[in-house]
Amino acid sequence: MVIDGRRVVSFCSNDYLGLANHPKLIDAFKCAADKYGVGSGAAHLITGHSRAHHALEEELAEFTGRQRALLFSTGYMANLGVVSTLLRRGDRVFEDRLNHASLLDAGLLSRAKIIRYRHRDTLDLERRLSKHESGEKLILTDGVFSMDGDIAPLAQSAKIAKAHDAWLMVDDAHGLGVIGNTGRGTLEHHGLNHRDVPILMGTLGKALGTFGAFVAGSDELIEALIQSARSYIYTTAPPPAIAEATRASLKLIKKESWRREHLDHLITYFRAKAKQVGLPLTDSSTAIQPLMIGDPKEAFHISTALLGKGFLVPAIRPPTVPVMTARLRITLSANHSEEQLDKLLETLSELITLSGITQQ
Ligand SMILES: *Cc1c(COP(=O)(O)O)cnc(C)c1O
Repeated sequence: MVIDGRRVVSFCSNDYLGLANHPKLIDAFKCAADKYGVGSGAAHLITGHSRAHHALEEELAEFTGRQRALLFSTGYMANLGVVSTLLRRGDRVFEDRLNHASLLDAGLLSRAKIIRYRHRDTLDLERRLSKHESGEKLILTDGVFSMDGDIAPLAQSAKIAKAHDAWLMVDDAHGLGVIGNTGRGTLEHHGLNHRDVPILMGTLGKALGTFGAFVAGSDELIEALIQSARSYIYTTAPPPAIAEATRASLKLIKKESWRREHLDHLITYFRAKAKQVGLPLTDSSTAIQPLMIGDPKEAFHISTALLGKGFLVPAIRPPTVPVMTARLRITLSANHSEEQLDKLLETLSELITLSGITQQ
């Protein structure tokens, strides 16, 4: 990345596979802009829905093994749309405490009662579910938690959801494209399908390298969203060129597994070396590798010092994360090299030794 003319190595993008700058995506984007123009011109249900959008929806449905998929302009809007379509006042939504803000806001907008369970604690989830047997119930969770990088225990959640007649919805913003043997995401990682997790949300602005989001599920679910999701109906469709660029990205993800393999290698490499030098690693096995600092001022201080040495690593502080869990949110990408990780770790170990923070 270039900041004010200075080159730095970024460790904070969600472009996990390095596809945002891939020539095939750029080409697809340019060609589609020539063909369709820049803006879509209207909402999907008026005239904004082009062949490009439709083809992408079909390909996303196929990729995720579901009947249908529906594009939303952003992941934030997709979450608002699903939850407010399925739930109303008197219903209940069960949310992991560390869910993404958009899932919480989705619960608020629906007017359902929001019940938060302890992070990744399926016993707590089950206990809370069994207290409420009336009304519609929806369990909402990140697939990969965005600030911690740990993976949701979906196999247990799916069982519990079935036993309590609740819907299960997974927001796989950080899993899709990167997790699972073929990049199908957190469900593939756990060996689950559409019967286990009937509602899947994925974003296109992270591993897919473009912009926007989709919901995939049954014909009935998608039809309900088209009829009722206000964040789908009352907004301009994304540019068709974005859809074409995403189609190009999806092709690469299906065809070329070396990016995922290289990224997996970098994750293992980073963790082994970080452990050697005593950095405060967490339990994450994904591309999100936060270093827990605790004190927000200290986190900010280290982040600023890192930038001075040519590394862009943001300090994530409350209220984005719980009090006294300020952290350096390091994200790895298939575009990184071992040498870049070596240099980052060397600098980090100097700074963290200076600050007296070591692995708990
Ligand atoms: C990024 C993110 C979103 C929002 O997606 P946008 O397309 O950026 O609006 C939703 N959920 C999770 C878990 C995310 O990380």
